[in-house]
Amino acid sequence: MSLASHSTTHAAWQALAAELTVEKGLETRAFIDDAFVDAADGATLTTVNPATGAALAEVASCDAADAEVAVAAARAAVDGGAWSRLAPGRRKAVLLKLADLMAAHRHELALLDTLDMGKPVSSALGDLAGAIGCLRYQAECIDKLYGEVAPTGDNALGLVLREPLGVVACIVPWNFPLMMTAWKIAPALAAGNSVILKPSEKSPLSALRLASLAQEAGLPRGVFQVLPGFGHTVGRALALSMEVDCLAFTGSTGVGKQLMQYAGQSNLKKVFLECGGKSPNLVFADCKDLDRVAKHAAAAIFHNQGEVCIAGSRLLVENSIREAFVDKVLAAAEAMQPGDPLDPASFMGAMVDRAQHERVLDYIRRGVEEGATLRTGGEATEVDGKGLFIPPTVFDGVTETMAIGREEIFGPVLAVFGFDSEEEAVRLANDSDYGLAAGLWSQDIDRIMRITRRLRSGQVFVNNWADMDQTVPFGGVKQSGNGRDKSHHSLEEYSDLKSVWMTLAT
Ligand code: NAD
Repeated sequence: MSLASHSTTHAAWQALAAELTVEKGLETRAFIDDAFVDAADGATLTTVNPATGAALAEVASCDAADAEVAVAAARAAVDGGAWSRLAPGRRKAVLLKLADLMAAHRHELALLDTLDMGKPVSSALGDLAGAIGCLRYQAECIDKLYGEVAPTGDNALGLVLREPLGVVACIVPWNFPLMMTAWKIAPALAAGNSVILKPSEKSPLSALRLASLAQEAGLPRGVFQVLPGFGHTVGRALALSMEVDCLAFTGSTGVGKQLMQYAGQSNLKKVFLECGGKSPNLVFADCKDLDRVAKHAAAAIFHNQGEVCIAGSRLLVENSIREAFVDKVLAAAEAMQPGDPLDPASFMGAMVDRAQHERVLDYIRRGVEEGATLRTGGEATEVDGKGLFIPPTVFDGVTETMAIGREEIFGPVLAVFGFDSEEEAVRLANDSDYGLAAGLWSQDIDRIMRITRRLRSGQVFVNNWADMDQTVPFGGVKQSGNGRDKSHHSLEEYSDLKSVWMTLAT
């Protein structure tokens, strides 16, 4: 498909979307052992555009039999060594070529994510930049990492070698389909593993397009495979496989816990988890520009319709400025209403599907019942008379005992708490099962460092929300997970250390 790089108007995106159909070659089959194939039992699942309700395609729905074939192909690739033992510099060249191909097809890939899961296309293009950047970063890292020579006596040589784990199954969610995929597959492939990707059943299309680009880039047979399907079928089969060496997972905490059990029931495979969050965003009265802070606090929750693991879903505001500050957040939210995801001006799109739409509306009802004050939003809405949309929704007067104050909603619902002291702010922030991200807005460097050290969180954003790049790790503590994506640290997740001890004659 030829997509002009300047095709960025609403009408142009609509025209491009009309081209992405099965009749015009959209790939819907699984990619196993270097070929696009139907599921062994012929099963399919329907992907639906949540912004319109239109069915997009019937996609192969893989199960245990498909997983078995893919795992065997992945293992054969590991043993064959065409990738696992290839010089890192040559792996780098292939991955950089894949990044170039993704860049050349970025409009098509972004559009597939938008159509599949409802996010605004401008946001999907941003995800693509992140995914491509991640692939390039990890590819560039891999031929700059050295092993170690241990500090032994002269009678020995101790080497510490880094080796690929083998077969890595990457199980990913739907909220940033390609970006979450890249955060897993880029370091896993760079480190020399064979990767089996299981995209979410709610957003499989871009992963299948990625498979054809990976083939074009020259990834050898069996090194990268894509198995669309449900979690309880093909996901479970991969997690229970005796031949999968590592599960790299991004998704909910509940499924993360299940995967650890599957690992225990099978072969003790390594399990890296990036799970849910209920991230606190702390705003102190000493901030200089409260209008700016309010805009960021609103974007922290309403970006990607609130379907973000690190959404700043708990806004903790010093009581002396709370009333005025919440008014500013409401004004900022007003400008973030949902729109057609194909309109590049839209800030928010549609909720991913009816179940998620209902789940979010249910939390909103519970918030009202529990006595929080609904300041804006709260009702389902439509765009052009259709679709599963929810406007920015803000509750004030939330407490730690309310469901909307504790549980991950994964939608555009902000819970505002007040605090009177630093101590209370830290207590509220840490009073959560999760520990993925936290924000801190203040001009007082002593306070910033005092609080930063006390927050139980994988990452802390100071006077920003989620400003990051590839150079810093991403991951959580507590029930937000145990893995680290991005940066050169993520390569460590996908390799084992082998110790070699040579006794030398002296
Ligand atoms: P989910 O846990 O329902 O599904 C994630 C993936 O796991 C999907 O591919 C799904 O098919 C698969 N799966 C489900 N059950 C399975 C099973 N029994 N065995 C194997 N695989 C199974 O999550 P979701 O709804 O797709 O995504 C939303 C969640 O992801 C939220 O909780 C969000 O916070 C989290 N998330 C976390 C991060 C992070 O980096 N920490 C990033 C994005 C999303």
